[in-house]
Amino acid sequence: MGACNLCGNNAGFLRSRHRECETAYQSGLAEMTRLVRDAASGPDPDADKLNSSLKVVANRSFASEPEVNASIAEGWKQAVEVALSDGILSKEDESRLRSFHERLVTARNSETDATLARLDKAARDRLSMVARQAALADIDGEASLQHLARSLDESELSPGEERRLLAQSWEKAVNDALQDGVLSLEEETALASYLNHFNLSSKDVNSSEGHTRMVKAVVIREAAEGLVPQRLKVKGSVPFNLMKSEQLVWMIDDVKYLEVVTRRQRRGASHGVSVRIAKGVYYSPRTFSSQTHEWEEPIHVDTGMLGVTTKHLYFHGLRKRFRIRYDRIVSFDPYSDGIGVMRDALSAKPQSFLTGDGWFIYNLVTNLAQR
Ligand SMILES: [Zn+2]
Repeated sequence: MGACNLCGNNAGFLRSRHRECETAYQSGLAEMTRLVRDAASGPDPDADKLNSSLKVVANRSFASEPEVNASIAEGWKQAVEVALSDGILSKEDESRLRSFHERLVTARNSETDATLARLDKAARDRLSMVARQAALADIDGEASLQHLARSLDESELSPGEERRLLAQSWEKAVNDALQDGVLSLEEETALASYLNHFNLSSKDVNSSEGHTRMVKAVVIREAAEGLVPQRLKVKGSVPFNLMKSEQLVWMIDDVKYLEVVTRRQRRGASHGVSVRIAKGVYYSPRTFSSQTHEWEEPIHVDTGMLGVTTKHLYFHGLRKRFRIRYDRIVSFDPYSDGIGVMRDALSAKPQSFLTGDGWFIYNLVTNLAQR
């Protein structure tokens, strides 16, 4: 004769539990988990009320204290999953679930730790999204930035994590802004206000890819608007002998200069997605990503400095030094990593300059050439 290990009464020969006790036990655990999940999912969970409900269920289902605690942890975990099911964790959900965890979840195990980590990640994702929007908010820009600052203050992030999140979100916002190809003046202003507001300096973003892309996009926009972009910070001397009537707009070092000796059949070059800005035409970065060199047999002639002015392209290498007037160029070719030009002489051969960034050099030169 054995005793039921749930109710303690005689369970019969070779039996460890009554079937009814086992059923009550299993359904009790499930019910406690559900009670916790629903309480943690609803607004303003009442801890006392929940605890007394759990006690009632625990008594009739023979659940021990560790089992009650495990059900609480499981119910809370399910509530977190419910809150995350739409992909976004609202501030309210986050606060409620965190405070529920602090007050009621006593079980510490790898699963509760993993669930807390999911909350942390979801909170960072939400803040990143708020930051990305604030970095591009042209209407109510100041209000968006203040809202973001408040959200960061209320968050669990350390000051270092905050700065990293701010810088990364800004980078993403630059990429968002450049998706359509153009960085508008409003976008530029919003991106700059964000940096100012959070005191993000050279250390945080200036050396970043996003910052470089923003400056380049501004330079292209100004050129497209018929202005002379003046964003170039010259380090060292300028090797070009500029004419009085022209201004230096950009310089790129380490540019490969290529000439084509024989010109074979080209694949048809599509110009991709273009956008008109003021007097200019602008091609989105996608235009360049898909195109490789259409020229066959290019010869690498020299490597040196490429100068872009309001009137000419200058090249200054070890062996070759020359300039090409824009109005002597009959065609410009966009490459993923540079630009090709063809001068209007019968003997002219295709020349190309590999700058590493076809999107920038092509948009800049073609727009300056339109002036
Ligand atoms: Zn029993």
